[in-house]
Order: sequence, then structure tokens, then C-alpha cells
Amino acid sequence: MEERGEKESVIMAEEQVDEGKNHEHQKIQTSKSEKEHCVEGHTEPEETGKEKGMRIEETKKESDLKTEVQLELSQSASGFQTGFIQGTDLFGYVGIEAVLDQMRRKTMKAGFEFNIMVVGQSGLGKSTLVNTLFKSKVSRKSCTPNYEEKISKTVKLHAVSHVIEEKGVKMKLTVIDTPGFGDQINNQNCWEPIVKYVNEQYEKYLREELNVNRKRRIPDSRVHCCIYFLPATGHRLRPIDLEFMNRLGKIVSIVPVIAKADTLTVEERQEFKQRIRQDLTSNGIRVYPQREYDEDPEDRILNDRIRECIPFAVVGTDKEHQVNGNKVLGRKTKWGIIE
Ligand code: GDP
Repeated sequence: MEERGEKESVIMAEEQVDEGKNHEHQKIQTSKSEKEHCVEGHTEPEETGKEKGMRIEETKKESDLKTEVQLELSQSASGFQTGFIQGTDLFGYVGIEAVLDQMRRKTMKAGFEFNIMVVGQSGLGKSTLVNTLFKSKVSRKSCTPNYEEKISKTVKLHAVSHVIEEKGVKMKLTVIDTPGFGDQINNQNCWEPIVKYVNEQYEKYLREELNVNRKRRIPDSRVHCCIYFLPATGHRLRPIDLEFMNRLGKIVSIVPVIAKADTLTVEERQEFKQRIRQDLTSNGIRVYPQREYDEDPEDRILNDRIRECIPFAVVGTDKEHQVNGNKVLGRKTKWGIIE
């Protein structure tokens, strides 16, 4: 008996300690009982005078209790605690729909990382297109004004990072340029430094992930997307294109694009696209969107639509023109402005 008594006193002591924590619970519970009370009031049409009197008393008691709890809260929760409760909804309502909002806020605060690699011969408009896509001077030319446009003997990788913010969403954009790719007479193995770079970034990330004391947010330098520029020859894929896409397609998402598509007529462009699609299929080259992304039926419909457009025909520019009173990024030609 004595032992049991001791145990009970221990439990009671614990409950007392917890009492402070339960203030919030109390408040939630009080309002819940209030709601229940309201519903009851509506469903019971007839009440005797005595019952009514009891009910009024009950309500009075409840509202007294509520005022007491609120008073206590406001007294004990000065400065720090009120800020704490108001500042984060983590301590507010808990429900599945709140998770989405929490995740959104956390992701918005941390921002996104996006690493894009551009591959293609010099002069195909790689830097211009990246600058066009992000509507800012994020690529090579403007970052290093003294950049010499000389052709290097080997493929060099050149990564430049920028933080872009749009409508409160932060993104760390890294553009990895590959000057020298395909610029030599003998282009054998010119994809090797690129394959090495891509694999190294995976290894780097994996090493960090395996680390027991890993950082809360591992810096992500993996290549998320590789834009491969095809010259607008109107012919078929060249051996260097096939070799590159065959090797890189296995390790990274490739988006093939026809550079300077404004130099082709509409028919030429359609035929060129058709031939490239045939070459990709007959050589078993995997480009974005890969079949693995087709699991969801809705995604599959969208992916099929993208597949019909591949390779994308692109036109880049860094000049703005006035069109109907609005400033637009466009390429001015003899026949008009390509927006
Ligand atoms: P990169 O060496 O591949 O980065 O090529 P640049 O971006 O430096 O562009 C080389 C030249 O091509 C520049 O004079 C650009 O103005 C021009 N250029 C870029 N994009 C296009 C395009 O879509 N169409 C046409 N006609 N010219 C372009």
C-alpha cells in the first residue's frame, strides 16, 4: 500500500509540473466545449425553466473559467511567450492541411538551388539564351567583362552562381559553362571533362549525405539540367552530338535545343526536329523527360506533349525593344521583332 501511495504521489507531482504546459490545451478545450454547447443549444428546442437556469449557470461558469485561463495566460505569458505563440504557427492549430503551409514557408525561407549546364560549340548563343531565360545577365559575358573569346584547346568548366529573387522566392542559380566543347578539329573525348565533373558532384553530395555530422542543408552542386545546343544545320545529328548525348544522357537530364532557330524557315525547322527525334530514338538516347517520370497519368500527358516539341527551337537575345508601348526582350530582324 505504501509503495502504491508513493507511486501516486510521484504521478501527481509530474502532473503538476505539466500543468503549466497544459494552459494552451485548456484554452483549446474550452473553446471546443463552447462549440459543442452551441450545437446542443440548436438541437434542443424545448427546455424547462429549471433546465434553462442550470444551463445559464453552466455557461456562466464556463465563461468565468475561460476568463480565468486567459487572464492567467496573459499574466504569465508576458513579452517572450506572447511573441512565441503569435510568431510561429507551429504552436497553433495542428492538422494535415497546416503541414503544406509549413513546408511552403520553410522552403521559401531556405530558397531553391538550381544548377544548369550549357554545352555546345562557341558562338551558338549559349550565354545569350541563359541570360534570356532568367531575364538577367547571369552568364559568362557580363560576369567577366574581360573574358577573351578565344578558343581554348581543352574543354574547361566554368561555374558562376547568382541569387535570383522573384515574388519572394529565392533561387541560387548556378550556370556551368563549357567553353571549348566541340571547337577543335579533333573533338575526340571532349565530353570526358564534362562526364567527370557531373560524377564528381554526385560523389561530393553523397559524401556529405553519408557524413554523420552532416550539415542541415547540404550544398547542392549536382547538375540538375544540361542544355545541349545543336547548330541549326537542318541536317541530322552529328557524331559528336550522338556521342555526347549517349554518354551524358545516362547521368544527367539533357534538354536538346536547336540554337538560333530564327535562321530556319518553319518547314525546315519541322523537318529538322523530326530527323533529330528519329536519330534520338534509333540511337537509344535518353533525354528529358525520361520514361521514369510517366508513372502518374497526368504527368504522362504533359511529358508526351513535351516530347512532341523536342528538340526545342530557341531564339535568344539580350536587347529590349518597344512593342505596343511595352518593353520586350526581342531579336530585331528585317521582317519584324521576334519576341
Ligand atoms: P556562346 O559562345 O555560345 O555563348 O554564344 P553567344 O551567346 O556569345 O552568342 C554569339 C552570337 O550569336 C552573338 O552575336 C549573339 O548576339 C548571337 N545570337 C545569340 N542568340 C541568337 C539567336 O537566337 N539567333 C541569332 N540569329 N543570333 C543569336
